[in-house]
Amino acid sequence: MSDAPESHSISASSSSAPIAISSVGVQPFLDISPDALVIVNQAGTIVLVNRQTEAVFGYAREALLGQQIELLLPRRFHEAHTTHRERFFSAPVTRPMGIGLHLVGRRKDGAEIPVEISLSPLLLDDVLHVIAAIRDLTAQRVAERERFQQLQHIRLQADLINLAHDAILVRDPVGRVISWNRGAEELYGWTEQEALGHLTDSLLKTRFPVSRATIDTLLEQAGQWEGELTHTRRDGQPVLVESRQLLVRDEQGQPTAILEINRDITRRRELEQAAQAEHTETAARLAFLQDVLDALPGGIYLVSGPDARLVLANHAASSIWGAEWRTDQPMLEFLTSNGIALFDAQGLPLAPQQYATLRAVRQGETVLQQQEMIRRPDGSSLPVLVNAVALSSQRDFHPSQQEAEARETVALVMHQDVTALKEAEYLKDEFVGIVAHELRTPMAALKGFADMLLVQTARQRGPALADWQQEALEEIELATTRLVKLTEELLDVARLQAGRFLLQRIPTNMTPFVQRIVTLLQQTTTRHRLEVRTTHPVLVADIDPGRIEQVLTNIIGNAVKYSPQGGPVTISIWEEAAARAVGVSVRDSGIGIPQRQHAQIFGRFMRADNAQAWGISGTGLGLYICRELVERHGGHLWFESAEGAGSTFFLTLPILATMENSEVDA
Ligand code: ADP
Repeated sequence: MSDAPESHSISASSSSAPIAISSVGVQPFLDISPDALVIVNQAGTIVLVNRQTEAVFGYAREALLGQQIELLLPRRFHEAHTTHRERFFSAPVTRPMGIGLHLVGRRKDGAEIPVEISLSPLLLDDVLHVIAAIRDLTAQRVAERERFQQLQHIRLQADLINLAHDAILVRDPVGRVISWNRGAEELYGWTEQEALGHLTDSLLKTRFPVSRATIDTLLEQAGQWEGELTHTRRDGQPVLVESRQLLVRDEQGQPTAILEINRDITRRRELEQAAQAEHTETAARLAFLQDVLDALPGGIYLVSGPDARLVLANHAASSIWGAEWRTDQPMLEFLTSNGIALFDAQGLPLAPQQYATLRAVRQGETVLQQQEMIRRPDGSSLPVLVNAVALSSQRDFHPSQQEAEARETVALVMHQDVTALKEAEYLKDEFVGIVAHELRTPMAALKGFADMLLVQTARQRGPALADWQQEALEEIELATTRLVKLTEELLDVARLQAGRFLLQRIPTNMTPFVQRIVTLLQQTTTRHRLEVRTTHPVLVADIDPGRIEQVLTNIIGNAVKYSPQGGPVTISIWEEAAARAVGVSVRDSGIGIPQRQHAQIFGRFMRADNAQAWGISGTGLGLYICRELVERHGGHLWFESAEGAGSTFFLTLPILATMENSEVDA
């Protein structure tokens, strides 16, 4: 046989004289041995083998007899073995072979097998031989490996049990702790040594959701139980656990132990309760909010996302629309499915991108006091003032939807039914219109006669006037001029309000047009220098020249009027190619407009405080009329100003880009 690796010191385990046997009749004795027995002579030739040798190595006895013993070992050991064998015969003693080494034999089929070998010198028929007792260790090795693996497995399981955060404990049928993992030590505060042998229920002061007896019965019947228990830790703190228990029985079916896995759910339960409380509170707040909203007379609703899906609305909102807007329904779908249309204050249809609600959710704009007219499903119309406020987009109104959707812009929209206001306004405008109209004729007569008196006297027709008479007449003439202007403006306002305002549009080259107005106005002042600046000799706009002249006269006139100390007034004209518009700006270095009054300056009868403080006369109607006129042209009018630092008014008007120079009416 071979010892691997190679040579090894050989120590004798016995020094008694070799036993002597005769080859005659020995075979049956050899066959009794459970080990393979092989007798070899000094030349290494096999002279006798027993039956077990055939079984272990797979050779028939005849195939072995007369063969070299090396036949039974792997080829790589042949050479070394021959040396060993020869050395053995020089000092033959009984000894185990290759102590501490893994010896291997080779079967007929080439398979290598682990073996244990004991060698003894033997006198066979008086000649020195050696008998080798060879034990096949294959089965033993397999068993050893299995045992090792099992041990490994058990160790791993123990490690796993200790790794678990859950408390894992085992108690005997009486309820005494027989195993207590690290999780249990951490959760309850007792070490395994301290817990072992204690009754779990009294150690942990277990409080049960049902009686212990019920749990025991369930364990007995179903073999397991799951539920929540309250335990008390070593430091006296209560701990809520989710417990799973399993009854272990022996082969006879007798209970031997109960496995218990307890998970600490104290924190989880606290969080659940907090979330529940929060949810209840939120629901109550929402209900309260809904009550508050419903109590309000105006329509209020909340929409979310670019298509303005309804989040919530009050009762008044439904009666304003004249239809029920379903939660989560996009605004346009709601309007079209109910045949609702929106119009502006002048009765022109509004495009969806102009709706205050859509402007708020799509552009994040805050739209204040936009006038809209709602044509409802029953055909009736309702004038409303709409305020749409874009709210912080972080609020989550759709907890069930994707986060991205929840981040969409949300807008709060308020609708105020202004039917009554509109009617009052209409009546007032009617009244103002009638008064202005009725004032016009007597005013013309007054102004005409005052003019006549002054002119005719100047031509020395009739008696000369005393100085005081002349001054009085001049005052009358000045006052009537102002009154005529006021009545004209009032009439314009009445016309604008009533929608009786038609524009006579003519393609007009703005550059010479503006220049002409400026030249006229320059004649009214010597303290101001009016200057037109442009790089465009031809800029054709589609305008009603009479009305735009009224606008420019008012704005340039204001620049002059509100610069009482004189100074430059610069009028610039340019092309806004992207907006397909002509831009005109009028800059002065006059008294400016206080910041706090910027928002109201285009209102009717609105005059800034500083204008009145400077004693500059006016009606506060001009800018209102100007903005209306410019917007009716499809343009815009706005300004930048700071008190004491002058003002710049800007206006844009639609350009006619394709106009040929020859067609221009300048
Ligand atoms: P008014 O007849 O009072 O001039 P407008 O409607 O033309 O009426 O102007 C409204 C108010 O705006 C004026 O009363 C004045 O306070 C302010 N304003 C207009 N233009 C200017 C300007 N260029 N500089 C300073 N204030 C101005």
